[in-house]
Amino acid sequence: TPPQQIRNFCIIAHIDHGKSTLADRMLQITEVVQPRDMRAQYLDRMDIERERGITIKSQAVRMPWALGEGKEQESFILNMIDTPGHVDFTYEVSRSLAACEGAVLLVDAAQGIEAQTLANLYLAMENDLTIIPVLNKIDLPAAQPEKYAEEIAGLIGCEPEDVLKVSGKTGEGVAELLDVIVEQVPAPEGDADAPARAMIFDSVYDTYRGVVTYVRVVDGQLSPREKIQMMSTGATHELLEIGVISPEPKPTKGLGVGETGYLITGVKDVRQSKVGDTVTAQNRPAEEPIGGYKDPAPMVFSGLYPIDGSDYPVLRDALDKLKLNDAALVYEPETSVALGFGFRVGFLGMLHLEIVRERLEREFNLELISTMPNVVYTVTMEDGAEIVVTNPSEFPAGKVRSITEPVVKATILAPSEFIGSIMELCQSRRGTLGGMDYLSEERVEMRYTLPLAEIVFDFFDHLKSRTKGYASFEYSEAGHQEADLVKVDILLQGDQVDAFSSVVHKDKAYAYGVEMAGKLKELIPRQQFEVPIQAAVGSRIIARETIRAIRKDVLSKCYGGDISRKRKLLEKQKEGKKRMKMVGTVEIPQEAFIAALSQD
Ligand code: GDP
Ligand code: MG
Repeated sequence: TPPQQIRNFCIIAHIDHGKSTLADRMLQITEVVQPRDMRAQYLDRMDIERERGITIKSQAVRMPWALGEGKEQESFILNMIDTPGHVDFTYEVSRSLAACEGAVLLVDAAQGIEAQTLANLYLAMENDLTIIPVLNKIDLPAAQPEKYAEEIAGLIGCEPEDVLKVSGKTGEGVAELLDVIVEQVPAPEGDADAPARAMIFDSVYDTYRGVVTYVRVVDGQLSPREKIQMMSTGATHELLEIGVISPEPKPTKGLGVGETGYLITGVKDVRQSKVGDTVTAQNRPAEEPIGGYKDPAPMVFSGLYPIDGSDYPVLRDALDKLKLNDAALVYEPETSVALGFGFRVGFLGMLHLEIVRERLEREFNLELISTMPNVVYTVTMEDGAEIVVTNPSEFPAGKVRSITEPVVKATILAPSEFIGSIMELCQSRRGTLGGMDYLSEERVEMRYTLPLAEIVFDFFDHLKSRTKGYASFEYSEAGHQEADLVKVDILLQGDQVDAFSSVVHKDKAYAYGVEMAGKLKELIPRQQFEVPIQAAVGSRIIARETIRAIRKDVLSKCYGGDISRKRKLLEKQKEGKKRMKMVGTVEIPQEAFIAALSQD
């Protein structure tokens, strides 16, 4: 297809504003999916996406669309690139956007602009995309299209009348939207005679076919059976198949300038096909890769341990398998005094963590304990040595010169009556206000710089409860910043329980120590001797509790008599012992650890 007849676009929206539903309607109206094959959220292929109703992997679908009637009719190819909606996958979103010339900015007509709408809009503007503003769900009785058209117009600098109004549910306005996409989104530009360059904007692992790589060709042409080269690594692969998705994969004779499609090389590991990397032809390689490539960097780490220690090899194999489909997942073996053998696993964020954990438990039948998630710290020692800490229990002892932690730029959108309460929350989380803008009289956008550690776990819950659910929140990485951090250890009878060590701000060390010591006192059964629980920063004890001793002799209850009953009791006690963990001389039921580590 000549580039003049191609339009590449994506849909950007806040979660639940109707992106998947609108995509479904487009597939239907362009007759790419036949009515009998239609099912809701056609493009959300992974089961876990369906159940959670979120889109994790982006996909590109090719749809034919014609403008005009009869002899005047002109046909076009629309490539719709579905983007993941969650902040954990921002990098993937930004690569999907880079594969397009236009973006449909979709806003729920009953909700208005939300933080994610803004975050994605900013990404789209950075990529110089043509923005098509659209209000969705106009069929809803609660819809206020006029009001929110004003809001959007104010934000992107257009007229309220230019904001299209559609319903992904009823299909109203969707055909007109497709016309506008053809008219307003620029055709792709590129040099058809230059060496081939294609950007990878997604790659997924398929059990039968190996890795399927989604690309957008920028220059030149890619053809089947050609040898291709990955520009970040120099690795070469034979192109076994090349094609387009419409809506199922269809092999083609090649992909040219501006086209999007998929490549299959027989490779088995998505790390060979990294999002953002440039594909070129081996026999005539391009000189410069397409800009913007980044290695996915894990932001949050957690220890994952099988509850049943004998499941360790199963966990290892399961992680190896998941890794094939998830280039961002990193892990290495780790042992914990309290929890045994497991792995330290790095994630893009908390949603990524939850998804991985859920897949491990569901697809591999594992029962897991995860330690408290932490971010990555860089510690500079007095002698200048730099240590990267991904596990708080490995925080270095000795003279520390400085510590840095990751920070984010956050956007919060809320009704203006909550400004005071939001400021209070952000202050308690060590945030600094960067700026504030009114979207309308009653809605405000607040921009904060916040430590990642202060927001990844429960920030959004607190924000919601302070704003009666009206606030939305989005953030992006913003480098590292120095902070006054300390490691708090929890000691049982003087022995450190590694799984409970935590790196916290100096001002919060005491609160953490008191809380953990109190929690453990409740959860650990009394022993035959007194057990002190202490929280310590270095050698300084900052909190203390004591579990008082008991004398427990199981057999004394049996009055000497029945021997079989005695044996039964001993068996029972042994059974219980299996699930006990020793910390120094203290026996702790594993359940106590699970309970203490669970975040409620
Ligand atoms: P996404 O998270 O942006 O992909 O949103 P979905 O497409 O999953 O839609 C979220 C919810 O809004 C679902 O319950 C949809 O049925 C509903 N929805 C989507 N579009 C419309 C619409 O035009 N009208 C109405 N009434 N509901 C819609
Ligand atoms: Mg969706």
